[in-house]
Amino acid sequence: MAVERDKTNWCGWGWQSMRYDFHGHRPHFLRWIGGQLGIDALATSTPPVAMDSFVLPAIRLDDADLAELAAAAGGQGALQTDHKSRVLHALGRSLPDVFRLRRGEVTAAPDAVVLPADEAAVIAVLQLCRRRDWAVVPFGGGSSVVGGVEPTDPKGRPVVTLDTTRLDRMIAFRPEDQCATFGAGIYGPDLEAALAAKGWELGHVPQSFEFSTLGGWIAARSSGQQSNQYGDIVDLLVSCRMVTPEGVIATWDGPVSAAGPDLDPFLAGTEGTFGVITEATVRIHPKPATHRIQAVLFPSFAEGTAALAAIVAAGLRMSYMRLSDEVETETYLKMSGPKRVQDMGLSALRLLGYGDLRCVALVGTEGTADTVDREVAEAVAIAKKHRGLSLGASPAKNWHRDRYLHPYMRDDLLDAGIATETHETAVPWSRVAAVREDVRASIMAAAAAQGRKAHVFAHLSHSYATGTCIYFVLMYAVDAADPLGQWRPIKAAICDAVVRHGGTISHHHGVGLDHKAWLIHEKGPMGLRMIAAARRAVDPTGICNPGKLIDL
Ligand SMILES: Cc1cc2nc3c(=O)[nH]c(=O)nc-3n(C[C@H](O)[C@H](O)[C@H](O)COP(=O)(O)OP(=O)(O)OC[C@H]3O[C@@H](n4cnc5c(N)ncnc54)[C@H](O)[C@@H]3O)c2cc1C
Repeated sequence: MAVERDKTNWCGWGWQSMRYDFHGHRPHFLRWIGGQLGIDALATSTPPVAMDSFVLPAIRLDDADLAELAAAAGGQGALQTDHKSRVLHALGRSLPDVFRLRRGEVTAAPDAVVLPADEAAVIAVLQLCRRRDWAVVPFGGGSSVVGGVEPTDPKGRPVVTLDTTRLDRMIAFRPEDQCATFGAGIYGPDLEAALAAKGWELGHVPQSFEFSTLGGWIAARSSGQQSNQYGDIVDLLVSCRMVTPEGVIATWDGPVSAAGPDLDPFLAGTEGTFGVITEATVRIHPKPATHRIQAVLFPSFAEGTAALAAIVAAGLRMSYMRLSDEVETETYLKMSGPKRVQDMGLSALRLLGYGDLRCVALVGTEGTADTVDREVAEAVAIAKKHRGLSLGASPAKNWHRDRYLHPYMRDDLLDAGIATETHETAVPWSRVAAVREDVRASIMAAAAAQGRKAHVFAHLSHSYATGTCIYFVLMYAVDAADPLGQWRPIKAAICDAVVRHGGTISHHHGVGLDHKAWLIHEKGPMGLRMIAAARRAVDPTGICNPGKLIDL
């Protein structure tokens, strides 16, 4: 059953009915974080405006255009031009997107939204847009955090947003080949439910799992929380079909080919700029019998980092493996419960040698009862060699239970005048310490230049033999007069620091608009030229998601 967008939070994350509710349940945290940032967060209230209260830019398509578009997309039911549908497709879910939505400052909205139900309709829409020179923005769950679905076009052409979520069927189930084919607009829970009914799973669970789609994962090269065990979406991708303005690309549907460059990993990450992925075949596995996850405490981030690298080097493919730095460890502790209980626990840990620099890690795996016990025990044994102290299963179980709840925090903190931004990169193991220090210092300096304090923490997740992803979270008091103007230099400071250390501008969020200026550091001028030339071959007039990723 597809996500009912009517029930989602139009200006923030997730279901309308879900709240993190700091005021009601965690006032102690608001008091503490407000103190860190120099504001009285408990007394601050900055609610969003009503959705009906703002005016969107006028629709640039006339009735005849819209009739033609509806006919191409599959009929009147496949076309939306009402205020709410345009707002729901106007922005993704980055911090600047949420600022703009909450303040009613939506300066670009699709001229029309189409919802084709099959590939033939996608082809018809793209051909019409090509003929009429209208831009097309592919839109899955709309959970992009890099400006990937913004209905803007540097050339000023009308913009049709192509919502893929009616392409949501399981098309083929091939257990003998360990793969299954789905329509690209299927949401995560629907995809897993279809596989679970047959005793199988994909195991790709980004934190946005409930509100993002298979096509969006592939287009933005997503990584799930269990990527250490099952791989990133690119590793899971077997083949796909992409409709481009020049025709359909169908990649080879088989295990491995030496017949020239591999198209699947190339098309993955094109972020809608080459065309629309209509279906994809992905690698699946029998649903594991059980999972086991455990928390380990390290005296320092350096020791925790060395332990994670050693676990990967030992060939253990943990499904969950995550190390919080000392500030993240402290922050979650502050969130977790009454201060008296925390103080008792902390004093005991200090006596054991786990002082202010202590860091919590989670290690877990899926499989049979025997394999999960053995693998977790082996990982904990390696952790112990790096002074890891086993904390047992319950802290880890709490994290696992709440893993889809955490994104709701941002909206409640915004209500209290606090911005929460995230940025992720990947670096070789040898550069983890330096990039963490530099990004933290750069954020603090950028905030200080605006007369503000920032609270910055990080964790490692998605680890590889050669390196790891480091994910930063920063909180700061919002400048209510100009939140976007305040955000831009902070974002630029983070991106500059990341590329200074040779980090990728994104490990799993993608490029979109927000990271485009830094892409050259990774691809180089020739690399960018080659990608642009490939794009020109399939989309010569640049109608597909213009302005994102790369210019023609
Ligand atoms: C709270 C939160 C948590 C997140 N956690 C994670 C995480 O753990 N891991 C992770 O990888 N990402 C995460 N993200 C980012 C985001 O969810 C991913 O980028 C996801 O892959 C986007 O999927 P989507 O269906 O929402 O795509 P959209 O946001 O709709 O689109 C993303 C990009 O892909 C293009 N696109 C979408 N569908 C298609 C298609 N069928 N064909 C061609 N192009 C298409 C769009 O044009 C756009 O450029 C998170 C985001 C949020 C807000």
